[in-house]
Amino acid sequence: MDEDRTARRLRVVGKESAADGVVTVTLADPDGASVPAWEPGAHIDLVLGDMTRQYSLCGDPADRTSLRISVLREPNGRGGSIHVHDKLEVGDLVEIGGPRNNFALTDASSYLFVAGGIGITPLLPMLRRVHERGASWQLLYGGRNLASMAFAAELAARYPGRVHLRPQDERGLLDLGAALDEAAPGVAVYCCGPEPLLQALESECRDRDGLTLHTERFAAKEFETAASGAFEVELARTGAVVQVGESESVLDALCRSGVDIEFSCREGTCGTCEVAVLGGEPEHRDSILTEDEQRAGDVMFVCVSRSRGPRLVLDL
Ligand SMILES: Cc1cc2nc3c(=O)[nH]c(=O)nc-3n(C[C@H](O)[C@H](O)[C@H](O)COP(=O)(O)OP(=O)(O)OC[C@H]3O[C@@H](n4cnc5c(N)ncnc54)[C@H](O)[C@@H]3O)c2cc1C
Repeated sequence: MDEDRTARRLRVVGKESAADGVVTVTLADPDGASVPAWEPGAHIDLVLGDMTRQYSLCGDPADRTSLRISVLREPNGRGGSIHVHDKLEVGDLVEIGGPRNNFALTDASSYLFVAGGIGITPLLPMLRRVHERGASWQLLYGGRNLASMAFAAELAARYPGRVHLRPQDERGLLDLGAALDEAAPGVAVYCCGPEPLLQALESECRDRDGLTLHTERFAAKEFETAASGAFEVELARTGAVVQVGESESVLDALCRSGVDIEFSCREGTCGTCEVAVLGGEPEHRDSILTEDEQRAGDVMFVCVSRSRGPRLVLDL
């Protein structure tokens, strides 16, 4: 889809609790114009003082009067979510960027959605969409306890028989193996949640044929990578060559050389700095691409990824 990438100011027109530690914020154009179009799986950048954070759109894409996000309070974070919880008020103007979609819904005859905690947010519009299409689907939704699981009661009431709530204090961890055993051949599996859940599902899916796994990470994966040396980047559109030092990112080297490039998270989670690779072999350190996409080597996220060889050629 064409993404509307203009930065714009929206007004906070609603803010309400969605669960313990989770607030839902509704944003609308201050002059009543339509909000940007988006598809299930998309997120926006939200500018919060001197921080920018990404939030999945969890409302209805058909509603062009407002955008909705739900934010978990992260007491040990750097302050973005606390800003949303404690400072953002109805009536405030906030700058947003995007929408951008690294987690697009593909066509499949059946779907298994797996959510852990606040990871329910990008899945909400997906459930709506596949239900409207009449596809077969199930949702496995885990959380610490029921009170912390945003939209749980609403989902169970709206989609009886399809939503399986698994609060950990009552039901233990999600039985991913059983859910995959019961899934139909060709199932598309969509998962968003904390890293241990994503890793458990990736490992369960690795040895199973006939399914496709799509994941969204809200926080960067940890990489155990050996130090990578210096290399150079050729900019295909101008022929210019930029040296990347061993302790600087490709993004920093590009910015230092005056290349105009969009970026946001600087940790390989938001996807803003995606660049097409025309030559050389990237060493991927992002938390977005699947293993197959990484192997294809035709795009990279320059805020974190590097080069396996002495030179990369980028479509810049
Ligand atoms: C595509 C995308 C979509 C997202 N959608 C949502 C959404 O719908 N809802 C939502 O609530 N969040 C979402 N996020 C996460 C969101 O962008 C923020 O990361 C989140 O709100 C926390 O921001 P923060 O500044 O409070 O904490 P951050 O500093 O960004 O902390 C994030 C996590 O890292 C840990 N952490 C931070 N600093 C340290 C440290 N020094 N040592 C150890 N651990 C640390 C924190 O405990 C926390 O768990 C999304 C992220 C992405 C990339």
